[in-house]
Amino acid sequence: MTTENDRTAKAGGASFHEMWRDLAPLGRHRDSGGYRRYAWTAADADCRAWFRQQAEARGLTYEVDRNGNQWAWLGDPLAGDAVVTGSHLDSVPDGGAFDGPLGVVSSFAALDELLARGARFARPLALVNFGDEEGARFGLACVGSRLTAGQLTVEQAHRLTDADGITLPRAMEAAGHDPDALGADPERLGRIGAFVELHVEQGRALDLSGDRVGLASAIWPHGRWRFDFRGEANHAGTTRLADRRDPMLSYAETVLAARREAELAGAVATFGKISVEPNGVNAIPSLVRGWLDSRAADQPTLDQVVDGVEKAARSYAEAHGIDLDVVRESFTPVVEFDHALRDELARILGADADLRVPVLGTGAGHDAGILSASIPTAMLFVRNPTGVSHSPAEFAAEDDCVAGVLALADALEGLACK
Ligand SMILES: [Zn+2]
Repeated sequence: MTTENDRTAKAGGASFHEMWRDLAPLGRHRDSGGYRRYAWTAADADCRAWFRQQAEARGLTYEVDRNGNQWAWLGDPLAGDAVVTGSHLDSVPDGGAFDGPLGVVSSFAALDELLARGARFARPLALVNFGDEEGARFGLACVGSRLTAGQLTVEQAHRLTDADGITLPRAMEAAGHDPDALGADPERLGRIGAFVELHVEQGRALDLSGDRVGLASAIWPHGRWRFDFRGEANHAGTTRLADRRDPMLSYAETVLAARREAELAGAVATFGKISVEPNGVNAIPSLVRGWLDSRAADQPTLDQVVDGVEKAARSYAEAHGIDLDVVRESFTPVVEFDHALRDELARILGADADLRVPVLGTGAGHDAGILSASIPTAMLFVRNPTGVSHSPAEFAAEDDCVAGVLALADALEGLACK
């Protein structure tokens, strides 16, 4: 399709390049090279100003919803059955450039691509920047989408506090957003027919399969379990090995068991956080507390891994005279993305003979996962050659990013255009 729009609208690849360059310095830490774009901080305000500027430069209808999420509309926001795309601009501490921003920048670039193609829209299209997706400041991920979807109550939101003791409402207020209207927004969600989030892949599946772009099947079920190993504190110099009840030993063996169980099941299991009492160099610990994070493609596999780790931990604890408590601290069941929307996107993207779009699961949470309980959602992933994410080393090649923009444009065209 070509029309007179060709003369005014920039095609997706060119506009992606420009936007990426403009956004790159915002919130980047000079020493680490990573991003510190935490919700409702100055760096976040810069990113939000950038979003608003992009919306206004294109003549889109700009609005901020009651929960602080930013929207840019082409067409009537109230007409209903809208197609929405976007992601988030905030980051984890010293995060990479791609997690979140890739989806937002690609949304604008995909719109530019469609305008350059002369696309005619039959449904309203909105681009969105969800607030506080990473939860770096207040400790809970996906706050903007959770509030909107009614998965976080206003009371819970009011209790969220950052490391300096500032509550979420106060932080919002300081950043110029009125927190009084916080809350579920079913009316807004009711006007959305489909949400598509493009995201950098946070693993190596696409690199291994040799594909630039993938389609999400599901977000793996995942949870956190706390393992408390209790022994007896004693002197590291004078206590004979045979007389010790050292919980560090059974903890260490359990870490290895977690790795073994995960390998056997094709899942992942990680002890990434530990606390030790009394935590002295010359003291045998009295308590070793380790947190297990485990994720798997399906519930029975995850159960098998965690049961296996717990069983191993109990036998090691018994062998060393250690008391063990295991507590599940959080759990999120599998999120299956809408099958009809996924099949439709597979059909639309499958029409491009040069593009193979494998369907893959992911172990990471996203706004699309939160919204999937309320509206049909789908996700596109862009290849990440090392799989590294939540780090300054996170990367996607520009060619692959542009392939993502074009795939997103095709998807939006198929869903929203005549
Ligand atoms: Zn993300």
